[in-house]
Amino acid sequence: MVRLTSSKRRPCTYLCNKHMIETALLRIDALRQQLSNEGCQAALISKLEHVRYLSGFSGSSGALLVFEDGQHLVTDFRYEEQAAGESPHCELVIAKDGMIPRVKELATERASGSRIAFQSAILSYKDFATLTADTNGIEWVPISGLVDPQAAIKDQHEIELIAKAQEITDAVLLEVVDRIRVGMTEREVGAEIDYQARLRGAESTCFGTIVASGKRAALPHGVATEKIVESGEMVTIDFGVFYEGYASDLTRTISMGPPSDKLVEVHDIVGRAQDAALEMAGESVAASDLDECAREVIHDAGYGDAFGHSLGHGVGLNVHEDPRISAKSEQILKNGMVITIEPGIYLPGWGGVRTEDLIVITGKTHRNLTTTPKELMIVDH
Ligand code: ZN
Ligand code: ZN
Repeated sequence: MVRLTSSKRRPCTYLCNKHMIETALLRIDALRQQLSNEGCQAALISKLEHVRYLSGFSGSSGALLVFEDGQHLVTDFRYEEQAAGESPHCELVIAKDGMIPRVKELATERASGSRIAFQSAILSYKDFATLTADTNGIEWVPISGLVDPQAAIKDQHEIELIAKAQEITDAVLLEVVDRIRVGMTEREVGAEIDYQARLRGAESTCFGTIVASGKRAALPHGVATEKIVESGEMVTIDFGVFYEGYASDLTRTISMGPPSDKLVEVHDIVGRAQDAALEMAGESVAASDLDECAREVIHDAGYGDAFGHSLGHGVGLNVHEDPRISAKSEQILKNGMVITIEPGIYLPGWGGVRTEDLIVITGKTHRNLTTTPKELMIVDH
């Protein structure tokens, strides 16, 4: 029996672990099913976020070997105690002379003569060469989306964690809009974001915080620089945080002082493009159709060439993961997918606008996890 000392619901390691073990075992079973479809008997999972997804282990060095009748978590001595606590459903293996050599030994002991899948986009050439030199009858089979399809669909617990990460992100943005001043450098604004995120319980921000002011707002990925934020400029702020391993993502373009007519116009078009996609977002919709419907609004307004990136991406243990919301994507939206909707218009020499929300697909519609207002925010202090 677990007694909570406060009526307020707090994250509880014991409950989370119990939940984690049950769900991790189901996830490993789903992976085994995928392996059998691919004609493989085992898998080496080396992408850390996927190791965490299947084992609960949150350390920075580890690999998971999944066999038909068990799973082994390979890590090093620094993580022995942590791994034992986080992954009681995995047999723990402490590698003394390198992780991949130990993985190879284990595979040879347990699965000699079988086909073992590995994550082709993750394993380094050096590690691949180690595994395949003298194979002991093992066939190492490269597979690109080994865990991604199942990880794209979030369960209730994961959605709660992402919602919490997004709640922190929304609160940080409002705080920073309150604190930003003409004369600050973009990097100072970025530092304020990172600090406010940590103060509110985030583990860290989940990518290099983007603060792109004035003409730099034409850079879709303008990471904060020493440039000074001037009066009359637009500022695009794009960041996310990690909470319990799960990411969030939010973008708003704000105006330092009264906006120009052009900024109001472009901001309005981007907002309408986002609204069109939000209106359409739901189960069974093709990701490429969603991309197209937002793109059409921007195209019809005369800015078709100025939206050069895809509409959005999945968010989970990674800030960018499946499904990809782009013209080329062949993915279909499913219940429980968490995705961003982030159209933008970028005009070199002028600047740019992007608005990004994070949503979860719920049946024929969606729940928007973002609460930051969409109206153009004007800083007048
Ligand atoms: Zn973003
Ligand atoms: Zn994004």
